[in-house]
Amino acid sequence: MRPVNASLSLFRRRLLDWYRRHRRDLPWRLPKIGHESTAATQSAQAASQARVDPYHVLVSELMLQQTQVATVIPYFKRFIERFPTAADLAAADEQEVLRLWQGLGYYSRARNLQRAAKHVVEKCGGQMPSTVEGLLELPGVGRYTAGAVASIAFERRAPILDGNVMRVLCRLDRVEADPRQPATQEVLWARAEEMLPMASVGDFNSALMELGALICTPRAPQCLLCPVREQCEAFAAGVQERIPPPRKAKATPLFKRHILCVRQGDRWLIEQRPATGRWAGMWQFVTVDPEKDGSPVGLGKRRAIGTVTHGLTHRRYEFDVFVCEGGKVVTDGTGRRWLTLAELDEYPLPRPHVKVAGMLREMAS
Ligand code: SF4
Repeated sequence: MRPVNASLSLFRRRLLDWYRRHRRDLPWRLPKIGHESTAATQSAQAASQARVDPYHVLVSELMLQQTQVATVIPYFKRFIERFPTAADLAAADEQEVLRLWQGLGYYSRARNLQRAAKHVVEKCGGQMPSTVEGLLELPGVGRYTAGAVASIAFERRAPILDGNVMRVLCRLDRVEADPRQPATQEVLWARAEEMLPMASVGDFNSALMELGALICTPRAPQCLLCPVREQCEAFAAGVQERIPPPRKAKATPLFKRHILCVRQGDRWLIEQRPATGRWAGMWQFVTVDPEKDGSPVGLGKRRAIGTVTHGLTHRRYEFDVFVCEGGKVVTDGTGRRWLTLAELDEYPLPRPHVKVAGMLREMAS
């Protein structure tokens, strides 16, 4: 029998005790009740039976996909300050939403979040769904996010399985198969469900994630500080560093592009990207694929000012950057605009173009 099964209630208690003492205070969580919080905070929370706002949990979960907590915190604060409710987000201009997301990357998350907010307003009377099934109806919400919102905000007995939880469960049960394989994932989902307590489900799920983030880390897990090491099979066998097996390295293709910063006086030419695909709807300096597009004429004399690289999960980009001056550029009917560098701040730009704008600012200073 697996050790965790042998004493599941002890396991839950140890994990929850540890979480309540050591968890990080994050802006999408309630303040910690304990020696760090004030008596006023505790009595206010107890009086209101406080729960986190499910919309805030949804925003944080979408921001945290593929992104570190430390990076997300300032974005989350700015986003919630500007769009405190789903109704505020639903009514917003998409360009402003993208602008607030600028730098977090994976912009389809921002678009999905706004579509989810519209769904909440139009189909759910402005109230976030409280069940996994209802949450799964929201654009961009999958099994993990639905489980996180349902358990953390509504105390539903819904399991979660993200990268951190996967790693923790694999080590606890000494699952040596690759957790990225669908068959292994199904085993882990079932395990995550089996472990759930009857109460404090949100804290329990958060605790599993927090253990993975702080103690049971991908490399060099801190087993001696781990509250559940007595129940960990990988630790008992001394194989925790081998679990999960490393991802097989795949060569990521490199795409080469030219960014042409076309100038007239103190203004620069920008264009909007198509409404679908990568960085959809965002703005950029004129960007061409030199193999496909050749050298566009009429943009003026080119001068190379540097190279910007950008890595995504499955591809890498290398942008050679040029300033073009003295050309005759017609913008009428093209969707292109002339902007000063200060005006550029109002537009959502993909990260490589934010870097290019920084290069131009440095040149001008
Ligand atoms: Fe992870 Fe080590 Fe704790 Fe096992 S004992 S759960 S490997 S930190």
